[in-house]
Amino acid sequence: MNVHTLKVKWKEGELNQNTYVVEQEDGCILIDAGVSIEEIRKITNKPILAVLLTHGHFDRIDYIEEYDELKIPIYASIYTKKYMLDPNLNVSKMIKSRVYRVGKINELKDNETIKIGKMEVKCLYTPGHSRDSVCYLMGDKLFSGDTLFSVSIGRTDFIDSNNDEMIKSLSRLDNLDYKELYSGHGRVSNKAEQNQNIKQWLNILK
Ligand SMILES: [Zn+2]
Repeated sequence: MNVHTLKVKWKEGELNQNTYVVEQEDGCILIDAGVSIEEIRKITNKPILAVLLTHGHFDRIDYIEEYDELKIPIYASIYTKKYMLDPNLNVSKMIKSRVYRVGKINELKDNETIKIGKMEVKCLYTPGHSRDSVCYLMGDKLFSGDTLFSVSIGRTDFIDSNNDEMIKSLSRLDNLDYKELYSGHGRVSNKAEQNQNIKQWLNILK
């Protein structure tokens, strides 16, 4: 498994957001849709098997309609469609107020494991930053969206954030077994670093 990181720099502001391309022999999986397919094609020509959304904030879904038009399956939490259709929830109001319309979303439940190509992916429901936040576990790699960063955690001051839920989600990730952490912003981290980071933030939040 080869993980490529694609960075987006927005004209409207420096969000420095990560979209990941998880590449295997039989194709690749995107974690979030913050870049166009043109950008993906600069990295790999392998088929895009699926787009997995960590949550429905605009920086995660800005190109989702492009992938949907190509009939690439989209996976997300059961709450994410609501975010796509509401500029308040998807926080695109901050810069351009957008609604994102796609056909079908394959809605994942907590702890659900799916197989995409040869890859097994487990969905973990981790609300707090947003009500629809999930993490994806692929082998020993955890993709944490905006729940957890290398030396920080996601904001909990959005309209649909919840501090208590964030505490529960972080505690859950603290007990989870993985090696590498790929988060929605910033650099790659690992479980050892997170043992420090999560404890520090739990103390601040509690
Ligand atoms: Zn977010």
